[in-house]
Amino acid sequence: MSDLEMEYYQTDSCPEKVYSDIYADVMKCKRCDLGCEELLDGHNPHVMGKGGGESGVMFVAEAPGLQETIHKTPLTPPGTSGKLYEKVLDHLGLTRDEVYTTNTVLCRPPKNRDPELWEVHKCKSFFKRQLELVEPKIVVTFGRFAAQAMLGSVKITRDHGQLMRSEQFGVDVFPLYHPAYVAAYAPKEKKLEFKEDVKKLKKLLEKMDR
Ligand code: URA
Repeated sequence: MSDLEMEYYQTDSCPEKVYSDIYADVMKCKRCDLGCEELLDGHNPHVMGKGGGESGVMFVAEAPGLQETIHKTPLTPPGTSGKLYEKVLDHLGLTRDEVYTTNTVLCRPPKNRDPELWEVHKCKSFFKRQLELVEPKIVVTFGRFAAQAMLGSVKITRDHGQLMRSEQFGVDVFPLYHPAYVAAYAPKEKKLEFKEDVKKLKKLLEKMDR
């Protein structure tokens, strides 16, 4: 193989190239009604996952909200979920650049409604491509949509805070309650459960060979 060909193959398979290929496909995706919206409240509804794989940890939430479409970043402040997410990262001693952050559905649903199952299904191949790119040691899910997309028939009130295996994706999964629920609606005991789960996750990450 010539040097030039070698360079081509190396460039073609480099993470930046793979990321920008997925990014381009996500931004033009119209597989479901969400992606067909040109603008939602004045912003493109598509929000691609972001970050790095250095820590071996990937976080997956539900779907972008208004702030995410403005800042083009999943789980971003000043959104309620983004603010709590950054506190969780701080507690874990991780930065956004060291982890990869994404959503189960990569477009914002109108009026922030729950994603529908067929929309989750249509977005799954993007999730798989991001997973193959990042190759995390562990995926931390926020809320039932992300947990169910990875684990099937999981019950978040029962299974939160337990290390589980996603046979479908071949990776360990640690489900947490959704930060929007914890910050806004959860009763005191659920907020405490969330806190305990995050502490448990920290211990798990410390022990993990990442
Ligand atoms: N912001 C996101 O990016 N995802 C959520 O699930 C909620 C808010």
